Amino acid sequence: MKTINIAIDGPAGAGKSSIAKEISSELGFIYVDTGALYRTIALYAQMHNIESETQLIDQLEKIEIDLSFIGGTQRISLCGDDVTDDIRTPEISMGASKVSAIPEIREFLFDLQQKIAHEHNVIMDGRDIGTVVLPDADLKIFLTASADERASRRYMELKEKADCPTYEEIREDIIKRDYNDSHRAIAPLCQAKDAILIDSTHMGFYEVCTEILAIIKERLKLDD
Ligand code: C5P
Repeated sequence: MKTINIAIDGPAGAGKSSIAKEISSELGFIYVDTGALYRTIALYAQMHNIESETQLIDQLEKIEIDLSFIGGTQRISLCGDDVTDDIRTPEISMGASKVSAIPEIREFLFDLQQKIAHEHNVIMDGRDIGTVVLPDADLKIFLTASADERASRRYMELKEKADCPTYEEIREDIIKRDYNDSHRAIAPLCQAKDAILIDSTHMGFYEVCTEILAIIKERLKLDD
């Protein structure tokens, strides 16, 4: 049976994951956060003090990554250990941005992403889903917002935490990752030609979800 695949791409902090999570639970689809894959490779490199690209590439066959979906929530394991929460640090965000520019790493993660999409109805978010991973996706959304707005949303999310970075640090990190992600030679962050652009700078969370759900239902002729 052919599965339904929806791609949501966009820069860091555009709200892709919270929006994709909400919409996929509404539709009964699986939400796949592909950034977690790159983060897990960065965590592996950090845990093993790997500094050079060649060293990391040489170790790829030792890196076992598994995704599972429990009650619609993605869990990720690295060589048998659940690392879902360990990959959410600023260092790992920047590490993921670095490892994601290595062609061998992208190739290594490509089959895993395609396999999940072939087996399930998915909303998959990332940077190159509509352009490279699922070029034939049934619907592609490119979700963006200004860097100031994205930094301020992230800051509001993190500000209660003990080691919360400052707003300026978050903004700088977002701008640096945007630059890395859109300037790398392979699978750079860019809007697929057939993707629908949504700029959420002046939109609330539920407003964006409602708009995307309406587009999905109309385009894919899904019933309410
Ligand atoms: O989405 P998230 O911020 O968790 O992604 C972490 C990093 O992983 C991104 O900054 C990007 O460099 C990389 N990434 C990617 N391609 C994807 C998903 C994430 O290059 N499909």
